[in-house]
Amino acid sequence: MSIAEATVQELISKMTLEEKIDLTIGKDFWSTNGVERLGIEPITLNDGPHGVRKPGATTEIGIGSSYPATCFPTAVTLGCSWDTALVEEVGEALGEECLALDVQVLLGPGVNIKRTPLGGRSFEYYSEDPILAGEMGCAYVNGVQSKGIGTSLKHYACNNQESERMSISAEVDQRTLREIYLPAFERVVRKARPWTVMCSYNRVNGIYASEHRQLLHDILKKEWSFEGVIVSDWGAINEKAKALEAGLDLQMPGYPGDHTAKLAQMVKDGKLSESVIDEAAIRILHMMLSGRENRQPGFTFNQETHHALARRAAAESFVLLKNSDNILPLQVEQLRSVAVIGRFAKEPRYQGAGSSQVIPTRVDSSYNELQRWLGNTVHITYTDGYDEGETSDDSLLHEAVEQAKSTDLALIFAGLPGFYESEGYDRTHLFMPYSHNRLIAEVCQVQPNTIVVLHNGGAVAMPWIDGPKAILEAGLGGQAVGSAIVDILSGKVNPCGKLAETFPVRIQDTPAYLNYPGEANTVYYGERLFVGYRYYDKKDIKPLFPFGYGLSYTTFEYTNLRLNKTELNTGETLGVTVNIRNTGPRAGKEIIQLYMETLTSILSRPYKELKAFAKVALEPGEAKDVHVTLEDRDFQIYDDERQIWRIDGGEYNILIGSSSESIVLSGQVKVNEDLRAMMPLFTRMSPIKQFLQYPDTHQLLTHALTGIPRAELFLGDNEMFTSMPVAKLVVHGILTDENIDTLIEQANQTFSL
Ligand code: BGC
Repeated sequence: MSIAEATVQELISKMTLEEKIDLTIGKDFWSTNGVERLGIEPITLNDGPHGVRKPGATTEIGIGSSYPATCFPTAVTLGCSWDTALVEEVGEALGEECLALDVQVLLGPGVNIKRTPLGGRSFEYYSEDPILAGEMGCAYVNGVQSKGIGTSLKHYACNNQESERMSISAEVDQRTLREIYLPAFERVVRKARPWTVMCSYNRVNGIYASEHRQLLHDILKKEWSFEGVIVSDWGAINEKAKALEAGLDLQMPGYPGDHTAKLAQMVKDGKLSESVIDEAAIRILHMMLSGRENRQPGFTFNQETHHALARRAAAESFVLLKNSDNILPLQVEQLRSVAVIGRFAKEPRYQGAGSSQVIPTRVDSSYNELQRWLGNTVHITYTDGYDEGETSDDSLLHEAVEQAKSTDLALIFAGLPGFYESEGYDRTHLFMPYSHNRLIAEVCQVQPNTIVVLHNGGAVAMPWIDGPKAILEAGLGGQAVGSAIVDILSGKVNPCGKLAETFPVRIQDTPAYLNYPGEANTVYYGERLFVGYRYYDKKDIKPLFPFGYGLSYTTFEYTNLRLNKTELNTGETLGVTVNIRNTGPRAGKEIIQLYMETLTSILSRPYKELKAFAKVALEPGEAKDVHVTLEDRDFQIYDDERQIWRIDGGEYNILIGSSSESIVLSGQVKVNEDLRAMMPLFTRMSPIKQFLQYPDTHQLLTHALTGIPRAELFLGDNEMFTSMPVAKLVVHGILTDENIDTLIEQANQTFSL
């Protein structure tokens, strides 16, 4: 946002209180209020994230009736690309479509962590890992905003389930919040500067996200220096004044009523400070003026080019999960007949349900694309295989089995039907419908050359895993899904996606199993930091497919890991280089993953954590050095007691993997402890012996106890007395609360740097 501060200040100074309050609420569903008298015009905010959903009128919710726009792959799929350049390109295209549709802010990306595979909205989020989700989010924001269009980073924070999403309280400890649930937001805010951040509906530790001063004001605006607008999720406001005081700026949508009069009265009665309104109005004005300034009336984009990008993005994001006997890519010369089975072949699932649902400019079905590719040379049969419901239809099944039997190869399109996953509710189990599972199992019995293509917005159980020779995870691949699938099947594109979430064998194995979906409107994040692979690693549970996993039609060799230091101090960076060679017969892309393992920490820590990644393209035989740099933050943990990020010193292993389960190289580095961590921290609950440990604090305590009878008990070496928290001296009538507070303050000052 580039509007001069003076311009904004001048406008604000000319506004009445009511006009400023009006700015803090939408005019209707999708637009802000303007101030006609001063020539300030409204702007439009629309969904998002994977396509522009602009309804015909700003007063309509318009799900299912918006202007056509390119439906790009959803985050669940795009996240598997691990390709920041690609996501940025998609962002640029989205920005262009916003320009064409006169939308000033696009409501995305979503960077919440996939805590459970059952999350109904998992398809709108990138990953179970904060670094991957954060990097994808940065790329999206950079792309969209490069076109002068704002973004909305959502849903801040802890919207990790849809069950009771408008009221549930996510009970999460501060370290877990800081290390797992906030870092993706932090990364995007600091690195990509989104115009807006959207608060979530839910509560976090008992407080609505829309009224959460620690989250909105203290962390987002102050600690991360966020200069944009905090917008409510649509309808997330419960008490507007509380929300404004907590740091929220813009309430969406608008509604008819006495909103402005009520707040103005509160200001007049001294119950709400005008400066709170001013801050929100200033931020909103910046956004509105930038939005208006960047409009390009008459802008057009090329639908074909965007469709081609959607196709490329999908193909580069699909994950090849299994490929026995190298059945893929298909050897067309040897094929005479193919049985295409499953309704999804003709009616693909390519996006999720809810506010993000785009009306696509067109949809490529796999069936049509297969016909186009093979129709002249190969005999193709087709059957639905299953109906729209869950129960198995014997006649459809029978037909599929007969066709599979009498052809060279069966290609089954299966997965999760649309009603299984949506914004607003969660899935109830990990299974695909019985009709899909039975179909795959029975076709595999009669046809050894079976390939399964999956359409789904999250991990699914695969009880038939041993049956098919190949499994292609096509997620929710956007409007070009069919042509992208054929690109992979034909070998035109070498698969290069890797899972951005773990696929578990069964729901009982998943991290949140015992603590989800919660009860009495509360969900405890009892698994703490152990989300996704962090959990499977620690518990030594073998998943169906691990995080970071995906096959290619070629092979890669990793060698020569180099660290530019063996020892690291605060403020220094660690350069890591590894060589990667394409040792197979085809050009391909590999995603190199750097995990870090702490060898000496006394804290509760995951076995390993992703810290960096890179995607490289290599011709057959080609080799490249890949460099990444690790910084302080990569070695830090959140110290809840001190409320700071600090380096956890000790020995670390730098692990290079082709997935979280396949670590191929490792190197070691010693990281010196953050000085602050070595300093004792004194609190009311610090044991007396901690004061006795250091000469200065020993003296402070001795001084405080001077003249007090029985003081020697606490200054001696009797553990029974010296292990007592210092605050207990109050209840024993020895010191006052004020004495204790002074003692603690002085003790901490003694050690401040
Ligand atoms: C969703 C948001 C969306 C908004 C506007 C809400 O229900 O949670 O993601 O941007 O509606 O449609």
